[in-house]
Amino acid sequence: MNPPELARRSTDKAPIGPWAVPTFPARSHWLTATIVVLLGALLATTLWLARENERNEKQEALQHASMAAVMSIRTRLAETEQALRGLAAELRGAGDDARFAAVATELVANNPALLRIERRAGGELIAAADAPQPRARLGAARRAGLGFDTQIALAASRGADRLAYSRPYPVQIPGELPFAVTELAVPVDGERRGTLLAIYALERILEHFAPPEFLAAHEVTLSELDGSTLARAASGVRGAGVYRATAPLELAGGRSISLRADSRAGEPRFIPNLLAAMLVAAIAALAIIGVLLSRHGHLRARTERALRDQYTFRKAMEDSLVTGLRARDRDGVITYVNPAFCAMTGYDAEELIGCRAPMPYWVKDTEVDPERSQTLFPAGDDLRQGFETVFRRKSGEHFPVLIFEAPLIDERSEQAGWMGSILDISEQKRIEELSRRQEEKLHQNARMALLGEVASSLSHELNQPLAAINGYATACRNLLETGKTADLDVALARIRTQSERAGLVIRSVNDFVRSRKLDRAEVDLAELLHALEPLIELQGRKFDVRLAWSAQPGARVLADRTLLEQVILNLTRNAVESMEHTDPEQRLLEIEVTRNTHDGEEDKVEIAVLDHGPGVAPQARAQLFSAFFSTKEQGLGIGLSLCRSVVEKHGGQLRYAERPGGGARFSATIAAIPTETP
Ligand code: ADP
Repeated sequence: MNPPELARRSTDKAPIGPWAVPTFPARSHWLTATIVVLLGALLATTLWLARENERNEKQEALQHASMAAVMSIRTRLAETEQALRGLAAELRGAGDDARFAAVATELVANNPALLRIERRAGGELIAAADAPQPRARLGAARRAGLGFDTQIALAASRGADRLAYSRPYPVQIPGELPFAVTELAVPVDGERRGTLLAIYALERILEHFAPPEFLAAHEVTLSELDGSTLARAASGVRGAGVYRATAPLELAGGRSISLRADSRAGEPRFIPNLLAAMLVAAIAALAIIGVLLSRHGHLRARTERALRDQYTFRKAMEDSLVTGLRARDRDGVITYVNPAFCAMTGYDAEELIGCRAPMPYWVKDTEVDPERSQTLFPAGDDLRQGFETVFRRKSGEHFPVLIFEAPLIDERSEQAGWMGSILDISEQKRIEELSRRQEEKLHQNARMALLGEVASSLSHELNQPLAAINGYATACRNLLETGKTADLDVALARIRTQSERAGLVIRSVNDFVRSRKLDRAEVDLAELLHALEPLIELQGRKFDVRLAWSAQPGARVLADRTLLEQVILNLTRNAVESMEHTDPEQRLLEIEVTRNTHDGEEDKVEIAVLDHGPGVAPQARAQLFSAFFSTKEQGLGIGLSLCRSVVEKHGGQLRYAERPGGGARFSATIAAIPTETP
């Protein structure tokens, strides 16, 4: 399985606890869609409200303008009504005809909506004044008989002695379009002196009495209350049918028509005003920001996912490690431990993180950091070698560890602390000890077998002469008892011969043991000790004995390398075993190789093996180098004896001396190879 696959699988479940990485909501696109829909709805509502507002404002303005136009018309009509009332009041005495003619003519001339003013009595025409051309199209011929609507108006005014307008009615003149008129009846002295009739053309009322700017912007009509059109303003403006208003135009005598206006303004624009434009811009900006934020969010979510994948992959990797990992900052404070380190020491991560020296897993509160503080190891040192030390588990048990330290470098390439990899080497040590013991046992067995062999051949060889001596001794006694002393001489001579033979056997065995031919070669003692160091250290582990050795340069001898190795290993084994009961701090085995080149003295190399054991008791010193002398339960007592014979065969000497502070010093002295003088 490759790492990405592993990472993907490990992220199936969200990490729990303090390891959790904050997650970006997976449904963010739903959120974005909702925001976009909301913004769209807000935009549509804003536009709709803006257009509605615009529509209402325009509608209201039209309504007001229509009312104002009606007011304007009413004012102008009222002025004429006032003037006619004044004229009616004047027509009381004789000679009033002239007065009527003068006033009516002037009124008609000045009022562009009036077509004609008549004075009638009992319906009969008495006098009339026509508007000047081109208005006067209702001459006397057309006014011979009064229409029904006019008569109703006359009746209304007469009865109540007040003004009354007739119902508008159409006038049809051949060759012209029909147009509507209304007639205003003004009683003269309660009708006793007749009635004044003023005839208005409705078109002209609109055209001249309504404000010109109103007419320029609207299609304006006057109509009956039922909606039928009476007159249309001749401005030529066409209404768009969007904004329409109706205002009642009350006429004297209870008559009422309406003014209708249809604005030429069409539907409001899509974005009707500046405020709406600004709002739309703001919402659009919001939408853009939303989209950008959403894209940023997606990017962030992707980055976080990648980070989480990496994180879980790394954590899975760390958790699967059997090597303990421990990070310390520059102040030596623990900042991180992995599960393997916790399992090794028995402490939880919470108990370790934040700890500073002395650490809880150190053997004791030593002054020297057993992990070797970073001050001892400045950055740049090659720490790949690692070093051994001892830690303590929470349970109190001690265990050996191998530590590799490496500097922790941060993203600015500065050292932020130290990362240590810690290996629990108890098992390794146990196996080493086991193999050492087995090896030792093997040697012991080999030695025993050899001894057994030698003993059996010795006993076999000695058996015959001893049996013969025994036989001759018995014979001597018999000869003495029988008084045949003459034969004693022969028997004693035989005993001597047999004992000489036994001595020969023993000598020959001795010679055999010591007769091995030496295979001499130049041996550099420093080089030899260097090669033996692992073996001696292995010996030392039995009783936790440390080794320290030194060899003077040029200490070289002509020797059988294998035998010399045996001598040294024998001496070191004895030295290690002698320190079994020594204080652990004192268990130091020293080997010193020196070359004596003093004037007058023979040039020699001395190999001294020193220990801190009890030394050799004075009474045992005499037989120390004798074969089969041993104070040990399992000892064979031939080690020192063989050592001495090997050293002596090399022309040297093996000596014992007591150390001044206690302990033994065995030294072998062998002739050195002379240094070549140039
Ligand atoms: P073995 O070791 O089998 O006893 P050795 O000949 O090597 O045989 O040693 C003989 C004896 O000499 C030992 O039993 C011990 O009493 C004594 N001996 C040897 N080396 C030392 C030493 N370094 N310190 C004290 N006694 C020693």
